[in-house]
Amino acid sequence: MWYFLNFLLGAIVGSFLNVAIYRLPREHLTLVKPPRSICPKCGVTIAWYDNVPILSYFILKGKCRNCGERISLRYPLVEIMNALAYLANSFISNRLLSFSMCLFVSCAIVISCIDLEFLAIPDVTLVLSWVAAVLIWWTKGFVILNILGAVAAMCLLWFLGMAYKGGMGEGDIVLIGAIGLAAGFMESFYVLFASSVSAIIYAVVKGKGKLELKQKIPFGTFLAPAGYIVLLINSLF
Ligand SMILES: [Zn+2]
Repeated sequence: MWYFLNFLLGAIVGSFLNVAIYRLPREHLTLVKPPRSICPKCGVTIAWYDNVPILSYFILKGKCRNCGERISLRYPLVEIMNALAYLANSFISNRLLSFSMCLFVSCAIVISCIDLEFLAIPDVTLVLSWVAAVLIWWTKGFVILNILGAVAAMCLLWFLGMAYKGGMGEGDIVLIGAIGLAAGFMESFYVLFASSVSAIIYAVVKGKGKLELKQKIPFGTFLAPAGYIVLLINSLF
C-alpha cells in the first residue's frame, strides 16, 4: 500500500510537472494563471475527468476530446517516469533522503524536457535542484569530498564547454555542481561520462550519422537523468 501511494503521488506530481514544462518557458503563462489546463489548439478548458494522470491519455487515445488535436506522448511519459521514480525512491529507508530524491527527480524531469525543446534551463528548477542536493548532502553527513567533486565537475564542464565550440550552457554547469555535491567525488565523473556519451549519441543520431560540431546540444536533458540514476544507485546500495 505504501509503495502504491508513492506511485500515485508521483503520477499526480507528474501531472503538475507537465504544466510546469509547458508554462515555464512561455512568458505569457504562469504556473497559476490560467488556473485550469486548456487545449493549446482549441482553447477549451480540460475537464477534470480528462485530466487524470496517465489514464486520461489512453482513454482519449491521445487526442483532445473537443477538437481532436494530438496530445503529445510527453504527457503520459512524464507522469509514468515521475511515478516510477517516486516508487523507486520509496525503497530508500531514510525518509528525508527519500523526500529529497523525489524533489530532485521532479526537477530533473522538468529540466530534461525543457532543455530538449528550448535549449535552456529555468532558474527555478536549478534552485530547487540545489535545495534537494544540499538536503541529500546533509543526510550523508556533509562529506567534504563532495564539495571537491562539485567544484571539479563544474570546472571540467566549463572547460569542455570552452573547448567545444557549441558551448556549454551556464545552467548545465550549475546543475553538475548540485549533482556533484549530492553524489560525491567519483560519482560526479560517472555522471559527466554517462551524460556526455548519451549526448554525443543523440547528436550523431540527430545529425544522421555526422557529428556537427556547431550544433547546440541540450546537455541538461542527459545530465539531469544521469545524475538521478547515479544518486539512486548510491542511495539504495
Ligand atoms: Zn482541443
